[in-house]
Amino acid sequence: MQMPQQILKQVFGYSNFRPGQEKVISLVLNKQNTLAVMPTGGGKSICYQIPALIQPGVTLVVSPLISLMKDQIDSLRQNGIVAAALNSSTPQEEVNPILRQAYQGKIKLLYVTPERLAMDYFRYQLNFLDIDLVAVDEAHCISQWGHDFRPAYRQLLDGIKVLKSKPSILALTATATPRVQKDIAEQLDIPTQNFVITSFARSNLKFSVLNSIKNTNAYMLQIIRAHPNQAGIIYSNTRKKVEEINEYLKRYDIKLAAYHAGLSNSLREEIQDDFQFNRLQVIVATNAFGMGIDKSNVRFVIHANSASNIESYYQEAGRAGRDGEESEVILIYHPGDVRQYRWFIDESDASDEYKKLQYEKLQKVTNYANTDQCLQQFIVRYFGQDCDACQKCSNCLNENKKVDVTDYVKKIISMIYELDGRFGKSVVAQAVSGSTNQRMKEIGANKLEHFGSLKISQKEIMSIIDFLIANNFLESIGDQYPVIHVTNRGWDVLDGKVKVLKKEAKKPRQVAISDNLD
Ligand code: ADP
Repeated sequence: MQMPQQILKQVFGYSNFRPGQEKVISLVLNKQNTLAVMPTGGGKSICYQIPALIQPGVTLVVSPLISLMKDQIDSLRQNGIVAAALNSSTPQEEVNPILRQAYQGKIKLLYVTPERLAMDYFRYQLNFLDIDLVAVDEAHCISQWGHDFRPAYRQLLDGIKVLKSKPSILALTATATPRVQKDIAEQLDIPTQNFVITSFARSNLKFSVLNSIKNTNAYMLQIIRAHPNQAGIIYSNTRKKVEEINEYLKRYDIKLAAYHAGLSNSLREEIQDDFQFNRLQVIVATNAFGMGIDKSNVRFVIHANSASNIESYYQEAGRAGRDGEESEVILIYHPGDVRQYRWFIDESDASDEYKKLQYEKLQKVTNYANTDQCLQQFIVRYFGQDCDACQKCSNCLNENKKVDVTDYVKKIISMIYELDGRFGKSVVAQAVSGSTNQRMKEIGANKLEHFGSLKISQKEIMSIIDFLIANNFLESIGDQYPVIHVTNRGWDVLDGKVKVLKKEAKKPRQVAISDNLD
């Protein structure tokens, strides 16, 4: 029997395992159900591909996306490994021949969608195969606590349990909070001692936040110009905005294309190929772009319109620097974008419970954009781990002096107290700044002691409130219309026990006047 190390070298051409790979492979070869949580680009595929080549039978890979399967199968073929996919686009007359080849040991890896595995007849057909392992890719889709729930994933264990060959299970994901990890483990029968969780930190990524900047397009142009001939992705949240950004950047002689689900399949494939083979430098895309893109030398990822949760943000931003080289990822944050995400949640058909969770996740993005903590550390802690400050994100590098804003904060907190904690941040900001808005009279805010006590703009007050929430002096409670409450840490400020120091945001790169067109 060949050893994993030999296969790594001979088949894949790599000399050393990446963190966690060897441990996962060894658990799998010992027939243990295992959970592998590794960052994007961490090399999860090899964790089941090497066992697939060592074990005598077939490895079934459950994967959510057809495009993802196609890419994987193509790259396996390049390494001389025969794999096939069975999904809704496989013609019926090809299904039996593929299963026959798997039965004959000619196909070692069979990629299937979770929906197919849920079909009774397919489960029956699988019983003719000797299946050693079921690898469940993107395993966070099993959990309603995750950000990408797929109902068919819930039925996986039923499908696997009825298989006569009693395969072991390997669940793989890049984005699982402790709650999601627990859920995956419960759903797929994985004991805690078989969790292999490598660090979430991506030390080659430089994280930046640009909060409430004007001229977003001009900044993006500047960032692209700072990366001449280097590949980058710009994510936006609607097709319309993708087209707009694309139109703007096109004027500057950048080889780029827009990508979203509204384009034909053939055009999308063409754009993916052009990007993969460096004929395009930049892709402006909705989140339809990325899953299954294995371009290792993406040097920058910009989120032009923030993100709806930290999980997808980290997954998308994590497409930069998969080759381990220094790369930068930038989140451009505007409160208006968050309002739009909130609206998407409001309008969705999801259950109230699910919506509540999405609102909470969205709040964490606002916190990320407003924290003064190390950004890498913020993300890693979000996923339940810890790491040292990275010393290179926009917060770590912010050398602006800290300003004592305790007096402002005391007034804001007093206002929240006088308003009885019944309102959200815009009402609080209006009240403490003394707005002439009719609403102030309706709710009696104009009669309160701290009404109009803070003589700075409402925008600045909102930004201080976001900072206070991100740093746990205040909390945002509730779903569709969240209200602001004061935490114990916040009361300590009012009691004079704690001071609040806030750094001015770091000034983003200078934008040349000639680019400042919009
Ligand atoms: P992900 O964890 O995001 O699924 P992949 O499995 O696609 O990551 O691997 C990312 C890239 O890293 C691929 O190009 C893969 O070939 C490469 N890779 C995987 N393992 C190793 C290794 N041990 N040494 C070097 N490169 C590796």
